[in-house]
Amino acid sequence: CGVFGVYAPGEQVANLAYFGLYALQHRGQESAGIATFEDGTVHLHKEMGLVSQVFNETILSELTGNLAIGHTRYSTTGSSRAVNAQPAVVPTRLGKIALAHNGNLVNTQTLREELLEQNHNFLTTTDSEAIAWAIAEAVNAGSPWVEAATHAFKRCQGAFSLVIGTPDGMIGTRDPNGIRPLVIGTLPQESPDDAPRYVLASETCGLDIIGADYLREVAPGELVWITDAGLASSRWAEQSQRKLCIFEMIYFARPDSVVHDESLYSYRLRIGRQLAIESAIDADIVIAVPDSGVPAAIGFSQASGIPYAEGLIKNRYVGRTFIQPTQIMRDAGIKMKLNPLKDVLAGKRVVIVDDSIVRGTTSRKIVKALRDAGAIEVHMRISSPPVTHPCFYGIDTDSQDHLIAATKPVAEIAQQIGVDSLQYLSLEGMLTATREDTNEFCSACFTGDYPIAVPAPLKRSKLM
Ligand code: 5GP
Ligand code: SF4
Ligand code: MG
Repeated sequence: CGVFGVYAPGEQVANLAYFGLYALQHRGQESAGIATFEDGTVHLHKEMGLVSQVFNETILSELTGNLAIGHTRYSTTGSSRAVNAQPAVVPTRLGKIALAHNGNLVNTQTLREELLEQNHNFLTTTDSEAIAWAIAEAVNAGSPWVEAATHAFKRCQGAFSLVIGTPDGMIGTRDPNGIRPLVIGTLPQESPDDAPRYVLASETCGLDIIGADYLREVAPGELVWITDAGLASSRWAEQSQRKLCIFEMIYFARPDSVVHDESLYSYRLRIGRQLAIESAIDADIVIAVPDSGVPAAIGFSQASGIPYAEGLIKNRYVGRTFIQPTQIMRDAGIKMKLNPLKDVLAGKRVVIVDDSIVRGTTSRKIVKALRDAGAIEVHMRISSPPVTHPCFYGIDTDSQDHLIAATKPVAEIAQQIGVDSLQYLSLEGMLTATREDTNEFCSACFTGDYPIAVPAPLKRSKLM
């Protein structure tokens, strides 16, 4: 999911949120929503669909206020239905709150049961609504906002980057492992006496689009409280060990977003180069599975000296196939999405680079299309290791029995998808290319080494 928040008295905050969500559309395409706060009143609009389908000028003009919270969703906990769209709005003693969540809790079941005992009127089955009710409960027990939020966050286990609107200000936080990203930006001040105006966004591309300056990340286990008085920071988790999702780096986040002071495009070029070093091959052209495979394919070409070419043309008006919630939609999506260029491919030995193989359905279809277009050899190179384990922290990688690499060795996968050769990037290659401490990433879907303990019933639901 994508989350966005802006605190900017005097600005058209809903329009800013709209643009922010537009830039974060790749993080979720099922539903979109914006809530604004105006003198204690909350205006909310959320629906199934893309940001551009959910909002228009009239709707945005009715979302007035000083503060806006926005969300783009793809479902992990809770089904793909309008009622599960976010922000989640719940009442409290001090007024309503609106919460936007990216990530996935692993203790949703327990948390919901505890809250249900105290008689909360859940509208949805989402973990996100449970967090909102946990905050409401602490507020209603007498705590002020920051104390209540802190209390609620301590009850949550799993991945959560949150942006929360209240009548008095905006809260941003990340779980103690910082699995999902969240960054802080500032809007340019019109005069030096203006109070600073802050933006929170899943990725820096959400700041760029509205001309906000990148300030820093929200730290794992940190709570930022943004009001008229500026930004106040506190720590609610005693222990934090960074475990940023490596999938954000290799695939999920936009390539123009900045993580660790460089664009993900640069990181993806490097893993492409590393892939070429690890799995050299004689071929005539390197092509990418657009768009996600492009930077790694260019890196592969640079390091191998094999020319880069465009061999597949993508229909820009089709969303990410993986994210559509059913297999039928996914199958249809792939056919709509990519068309091979016969005059580039005919008679060529082709290296095709993609960022990942999950189920293997995309790859199989693409390889067939390349051969139909006349490619004489097809060598597939993947800029991440085999995905062998499901994610419990907010990337919808499906249950383990659907992951092609969970049951099959690489040679068998190669056979099944119909390539002449198949090689994946090594785990070490992927991690060292980050140029960061390699312990500071979650890579559980490649290793099964889950940094946050997953309760047995949840584990059973997705593991073979
Ligand atoms: P599959 O192997 O399941 O057919 O799909 C792999 C392709 O799906 C890759 O091109 C990758 O870019 C894309 N993809 C889209 N969304 C996701 C996601 O959430 N996780 C993973 N691993 N791959 C995804
Ligand atoms: Fe990311 Fe994989 Fe960890 Fe999930 S399991 S958070 S997708 S690295
Ligand atoms: Mg892709």
